[in-house]
Amino acid sequence: MAPPGIGNSSQCDVEFPTSSETSKNIVILDGGFATQLSCHVNDPIDGDVLWSARFLSTNPEAVINSHLDFLRAGADLIITNTYQANVKLFKEHLNITDKEAYDLIKKAVLLAKTAVARYMEEFPSPRRPLIVGSVGPYGASLHDGSEYNGSYASTTSVDVMREWHIPRIEALLEAGVDLLALETIPCRVEAEMLINLLKERYPKAKAWLSFSVGTDGKTTAFGEPFQQTARACYDLNPNQLVAIGVNCTAPRLIESLISGINDKRQKPIPLIVYPNSGESYNVEMGDDTTSYRWINRDKCEPVETYVSKWLDLGVTYIGGCCRTFAIDVTRIKREVEKWKLIRHIEI
Ligand SMILES: [Zn+2]
Repeated sequence: MAPPGIGNSSQCDVEFPTSSETSKNIVILDGGFATQLSCHVNDPIDGDVLWSARFLSTNPEAVINSHLDFLRAGADLIITNTYQANVKLFKEHLNITDKEAYDLIKKAVLLAKTAVARYMEEFPSPRRPLIVGSVGPYGASLHDGSEYNGSYASTTSVDVMREWHIPRIEALLEAGVDLLALETIPCRVEAEMLINLLKERYPKAKAWLSFSVGTDGKTTAFGEPFQQTARACYDLNPNQLVAIGVNCTAPRLIESLISGINDKRQKPIPLIVYPNSGESYNVEMGDDTTSYRWINRDKCEPVETYVSKWLDLGVTYIGGCCRTFAIDVTRIKREVEKWKLIRHIEI
């Protein structure tokens, strides 16, 4: 079935899960927001200094429709279009005031709420999908890819990162998100700062923490041992963290990252995994369409082929990141349901 909007490739198709495919124990995330947004807009997204966040201002209806695609595809939650949202960046690149920039971040939550309301009208259910506020790393604002290597961790003070994060977190919470996604965080110093910030300033908020990681399947993007880092971060604030894990990395790297992470732990860490499609992003290539920059899709195993293995390893939050479409969310959900049937877990 074609999604609303101008979707122009089969990847933009949305499949609807059947009613028996409703999951209770495993939480299904959405997919790559900018990726699905590309089904609704013609303007370039990747390469823009504001990335998909620009469309909060220029095309709010496309933002709503992208969220709706994920809900119709079976997501239990949607993540706001605020990964790259930031008061300073909005001021600079949209030529607006501090207040307008702050309000634009709040508008992202409103657009997500609008999508949920429309979805609930289409498919009434006692279970409302959650709205999760995306909090991308400080490095995402530098526009140099450093959220994927964490290089700024050794040159930027914790205070600078903290002050940079506060306005967006405040706007998201003020606008009423259910949860925060501290995501694509490449380094321990920023992760710990965010966890402590929650504890000190927003003690009622809940969040998940998700790292960007290295290509060795063992470390954070900045090079710290992943499992040790994840365990230490979780133990800093288990009451406010709903899960810890990995996003925006190739699916083939996930198993070695999470395997054994809860061995010998009295209180297991709830795990979250939302990889990208495994394609490589090439900043040198093309500048006018999304697809020119992503290469080697044909060499990647689809995300859903890994699902049962990850669930066996204890993952409870599962979805997709860059280059995963709404149709991938449906496929992931189907694998979750299959896994539950095989394991005789009551649906
Ligand atoms: Zn991503």
